[in-house]
Amino acid sequence: MCGIVGYAGAKQAAPVLLDGLSKLEYRGYDSAGICVHGEMGLQIAKAKGRLQVLIDQTQNGSNMKGVVGIGHTRWATHGAPSDINSHPHLSDSGKIAVVHNGIIENETRLRGWLEGKGVHFHSETDTEVVANLVGYYYAKHADFLGAVRKAMSRIEGSYALGILCADQPDTIVAVKKDSPLIFGFGEGENYIASDVPAILKYTQTVAYLDDGEMVVFNAHDVAFYDQTGEPIEKKKEHISWELSAAERGGFDHFMLKEIYEQPKALRDTVSPRIRDGRVVLEGIDLSAEYLKGLRKIYLVACGSAYYVSVLAKYTIEKACRIPTEAVMASEFRYSDPVIDESNLVIIISQSGETADTLAALREAKRLGAKTLAIVNVVGSAIAKTADQTIYTWAGPEIAVATTKAFTTQLAVVYLLALQMGYALKTISEKDYADHVAALQRLPDAVSEVLSEENIQKIQYYASRYYGHHDAFYIGRNMDSAVCLEGSLKLKEVAYLHSEAYPAGELKHGPISLIEEGTLVVALATVKPLFDKMMANVREVRARGADVLCVTLKEMEQEARNQSNGIICVPTVLPMFQPSLTLIPLQIFAYYVALNRGCDVDKPRNLAKSVTVE
Ligand code: GLU
Repeated sequence: MCGIVGYAGAKQAAPVLLDGLSKLEYRGYDSAGICVHGEMGLQIAKAKGRLQVLIDQTQNGSNMKGVVGIGHTRWATHGAPSDINSHPHLSDSGKIAVVHNGIIENETRLRGWLEGKGVHFHSETDTEVVANLVGYYYAKHADFLGAVRKAMSRIEGSYALGILCADQPDTIVAVKKDSPLIFGFGEGENYIASDVPAILKYTQTVAYLDDGEMVVFNAHDVAFYDQTGEPIEKKKEHISWELSAAERGGFDHFMLKEIYEQPKALRDTVSPRIRDGRVVLEGIDLSAEYLKGLRKIYLVACGSAYYVSVLAKYTIEKACRIPTEAVMASEFRYSDPVIDESNLVIIISQSGETADTLAALREAKRLGAKTLAIVNVVGSAIAKTADQTIYTWAGPEIAVATTKAFTTQLAVVYLLALQMGYALKTISEKDYADHVAALQRLPDAVSEVLSEENIQKIQYYASRYYGHHDAFYIGRNMDSAVCLEGSLKLKEVAYLHSEAYPAGELKHGPISLIEEGTLVVALATVKPLFDKMMANVREVRARGADVLCVTLKEMEQEARNQSNGIICVPTVLPMFQPSLTLIPLQIFAYYVALNRGCDVDKPRNLAKSVTVE
């Protein structure tokens, strides 16, 4: 949540900062601000609203002169989105400017203490406490680094901080704990950012800061320090993402671009892990002996990644015959989970920084479970904390509503289920070979669903149904799990109230809400349950529902007779079917959102990479 960026170099800083923030806006977008260190000292511009407001206000940064600066795009936690609460925050002394991602938990105590010392506060944010604390110690000893260190020793909570000092015009200090921060090495210029896309245009060489670490830099020099203040060397990592990955290309929205990127993302995730007809998960140690001793597998995640976990329960139980449970990360750690070394805990997160998920991972480790993370962002906190990590090679996902990250997470689940089932011999040799071959063909099947003809059909349905107030997504077995994600997409991007329900469960309550014209999206791709599903479709139609059915091509005729609209997907092995069934639901949500005039890439109140609990 929230994006921070910092620059020291020879270029004018403000346009670089604004450009970087434009790549981070998915992390928070209720206000934005920059501070540039120029001839006039610390010059700040900040504004409530989208980044564009700030861009207009500063004439794209051209009215702020200076070659060193920090920037922020906010997702408010303390104090409403307003000009005054926007970052950067200046210390009462005017000497220290701070941008912050995270939450200072002992904010009230520190604020009281500082007020007792005569310090005045101007905003409601927890961040201003940091600015004033550093300012307080700086006033005492005129030692910028020492003041930051002293302040760090007193603050509790999560933070990535970019800090400027009025008396050191060329220097930026940054520290982090439980919020992401990277350092970018340039030629005669250096950067900090919350995430790679912000600086990808300028450098592909970065270092990932670990918790407690500090970086002090100017245009030419950089020094890293560990928690104890000792100088350290940081490993330089090369980012292989293409520059175009962080741009919209010819697409109107990142969401649509990322929907279309799914075949490639799937291929990138699966292909390197299949060799000579076998799944090879390098560095992943899940021996038959270990798996046989497992009492239960837990999958722990938030949001869409939790829905991947629900699908994984079906997939893993079927392939491996090990009891498996999906748990929401925010509930997991407070539920006193029955966990020890006989449990495998699989953690799923796109950003690898999700606060609830990270906390759940730490709890699972503390209880003695082996942990395995499925993560997209290399070097993220979850990737570093888990015992083992499998990366989804989805590339940067910028739209707040996930599409390609979901698809690749699910693909990793397939790989894992096949590898574990093979080791346990719960899958026959033939079945294993068939599945591995089919998984390699899956990206082509996804491309087929993305055909122009399908898109036009879905656009038509979106234009027909966008005015509805409520929608129900119903399905059975794996389809019921796909419903969860399809329904969430509609809520997230189109602000349309929608519920996902197992079709057989509908008549135990929610059917009372079906009335003339209610939209029901019915998934009927689980072949053995097709007839039962059609019976459920008839039940809702009898009560006036308008049914849009997603089914297999081979079932088209039968399903058409029962529904008001129909979208078909190709048939693949049942294990992989959800990867196809979901695609029309993503596209449907996208076009419904467009019809409703919603800001698809940046839905209200949401942010990607939720780094607060
Ligand atoms: N807690 C800070 C605030 O509310 C920072 C939030 C963020 O990470 O955007 O201003």
